[in-house]
Amino acid sequence: MEAQAEQPFNRENLEGLLKRRFFFAPSFDIYGGVSGLYDYGPPGCSLQANIIDTWRKHFILEEDMLEVDCTAMTPHEVLKTSGHVDKFSDWMCRDLETGEIFRADHLVEEVLESRLKGDKEARGIVENNKEEDDDKKKRKKKVKEIKAVKLEDDVVKEYENILAQIDNYTGDELGEIMKKHNIVNPATGGKLEDPKAFNLMFETNIGPSGVLKGYLRPETAQGQFLNFSKLLESNNLKMPFASASIGKSFRNEISPRAGLLRVREFLMAEVEHFVDPKDKNHKRFKEVKDLKLKFLSKKVQAAGSSDTTEMTLGEAVESGTVDNETLGYFLGRIYLFMLKIGMNPDRIRFRQHMENEMAHYATDCWDCELHSSYGWIECVGCADRSAYDLTVHAARTKEKLVVRQSLDQPITVERWEIDFDKKKFGPKFRKDAPKVEGWLNERTECELEDLAKELESTGKIAFKVGDLDAEVTADMVTIQKRTRTEHIREYTPNVIEPSFGIGRIFYSLLEQVYWSRPEDAARGVLSFPPVVAPTKVLVVPLSTDESFDPIVTDLTSKLRRLGIQCKVDDSSASIGKRYARNDELGTPFGITVDFQSVKDGSVTIRERDSTKQVRGSQRDVLDALQAMIFREESWKNGTKNLQPFDSADNN
Ligand code: AMP
Repeated sequence: MEAQAEQPFNRENLEGLLKRRFFFAPSFDIYGGVSGLYDYGPPGCSLQANIIDTWRKHFILEEDMLEVDCTAMTPHEVLKTSGHVDKFSDWMCRDLETGEIFRADHLVEEVLESRLKGDKEARGIVENNKEEDDDKKKRKKKVKEIKAVKLEDDVVKEYENILAQIDNYTGDELGEIMKKHNIVNPATGGKLEDPKAFNLMFETNIGPSGVLKGYLRPETAQGQFLNFSKLLESNNLKMPFASASIGKSFRNEISPRAGLLRVREFLMAEVEHFVDPKDKNHKRFKEVKDLKLKFLSKKVQAAGSSDTTEMTLGEAVESGTVDNETLGYFLGRIYLFMLKIGMNPDRIRFRQHMENEMAHYATDCWDCELHSSYGWIECVGCADRSAYDLTVHAARTKEKLVVRQSLDQPITVERWEIDFDKKKFGPKFRKDAPKVEGWLNERTECELEDLAKELESTGKIAFKVGDLDAEVTADMVTIQKRTRTEHIREYTPNVIEPSFGIGRIFYSLLEQVYWSRPEDAARGVLSFPPVVAPTKVLVVPLSTDESFDPIVTDLTSKLRRLGIQCKVDDSSASIGKRYARNDELGTPFGITVDFQSVKDGSVTIRERDSTKQVRGSQRDVLDALQAMIFREESWKNGTKNLQPFDSADNN
């Protein structure tokens, strides 16, 4: 597409467009709506379908991934094992008087940001950030604190430091910050209780008895882990490989906000790439290693800064900024996907998770953040989840979720092993014997080593199995380190997981491609690349005369046969108006059928952003469209066989 004229972004105008053209709207609107739930209208559905289609081609087809579609309803036991029942929560605090509930980290962020803003105003520092003002106006109607009050220099530093690490605090730490900096209900000044963990999963019962407790899944990943053995089998037992899934996830957000950016039901596209923990190199890493990305490392954030460093992925992996090649490879692929669907490279950055923010099992995690008027927003999380999920599900179900690799050269391994003297073990524990034996068999190498030491020094080992206090003496078990020759290596793969929130990408894209022409500021243009545009071609007959019908019918059926989404606008509005209406929908090309077309079959194509037009035979025009839509040719190259056309003749 051609370069756009620079215009200041106006969120209100974009929101007006999205509402008017029904890209999306609050669900249950005529009942007053429910926060965090949205319906997508026709252009929104088409845009989302095209983003998903591009995603499937870019990831699933390009990488030969194994797609699965698993249920959203998940039994309690699965999510208890994965850790979600105990840990999938955010910190909330309640106003003791009004009962109003806040998400603690968001409240701290908003209050400190507005105090910093007040400080800037008091110091006479003018910020040219209208977008952010607009954005926060609504949310901060309640925040009475935007007052021009000058802060001490060290307070400013402390606030900036807290904000740079806002995702890194525990509930207790947030509580301390709130006390120390007197953060209260901004609307009433009311005191807030200490932050409490609020689990984000929607709970339900599966079946009528109420016995089987379940949840709506908060991510699609668990279904992929549980099917690991079947997937490995489908891949002919070959490693590494990736599975992928596209589907809805549900999170009962404490305070949904910012339109589609924080909602309670959203579409996710997730990849689980299973890899040998001893070899996280990626054979296609060389294809992305020269890509230059913007990185914001955890070290920089811990130092209270948000400055990004630009480097190639090759440099990032080599310097240890990014933990391994596979993780680096996916960061590169995520970046290329974002460019493909039309994101601006200057508005894409990769932020590393800080220690507290990262799940305890993750070894490294980077978010792809996209810039919009809401600031930098995490749109894709890319984590190395280590072997955590497969290990916990295997331990719980006793199903082996492992890879067995035949070794060319047998290897000698030393391993701690435990043997039972059943004659003594059985009578001592009776019906509990299998439970106690199972507990001992599940110990890791390190744990067995410790138990062996304890057994040797005290002659017994004592431990708890559920409610049972077990004591095992040296005559019942032997724990020894043995040397064995093995022809098979058995290991639990590690998982690298790029996890995409499609709604956030969808909205960020709308903001990034939106602009308006100086002569018509109220009406916007959405400069989608053809690959994701909801409609690719608008056919505009210049007259309602019936002599135009055959050519319009012929053209549209040819376009459809070629797989090009098209629409006809044969309304009586002026041609300029008809094009402007479709610029709002982001339709990249228009075909004008005029009186000349009726005579000789030739038509013109108009390019949305530059409004340039060229003319040619139907066949040449269709060829040009195919080149630009399917082969991503530029306007200049795609239309080189067509004749320039003065659009003034039509408008
Ligand atoms: P997470 O599993 O929390 O890393 O989330 C993965 C991705 O899901 C994020 O990068 C977001 O794009 C998306 N996401 C998470 N929570 C929400 C939400 N409440 N609303 C919309 N998208 C979300």
